[in-house]
Amino acid sequence: MTPLSNPFILSDGKRPTCLEMLQLILDGEATVDQQHYFKNHMDVCMPCFKSYSLDMSIKELLKSRCCGDPVPPGLVDQIKMQIGQNTSS
Ligand SMILES: [Zn+2]
Repeated sequence: MTPLSNPFILSDGKRPTCLEMLQLILDGEATVDQQHYFKNHMDVCMPCFKSYSLDMSIKELLKSRCCGDPVPPGLVDQIKMQIGQNTSS
């Protein structure tokens, strides 16, 4: 079986951590290859999947509210808690 080559691996051969990959994706700095790889990775890596969905929900929320009222303080924490509860176990 051929291991899927990881487009996140740097030229010096250093393997990135989940967090480093996630950061690139969330910052929008990942290449198409990296985004594709990460999508597959999320299927098998629950922590990445959780962090990714969490960040996306927060982004969506901020986007939908940014033209109107400011986001109330504590709301982001609230979402984090809800997501943490829903996906744990
Ligand atoms: Zn991961």
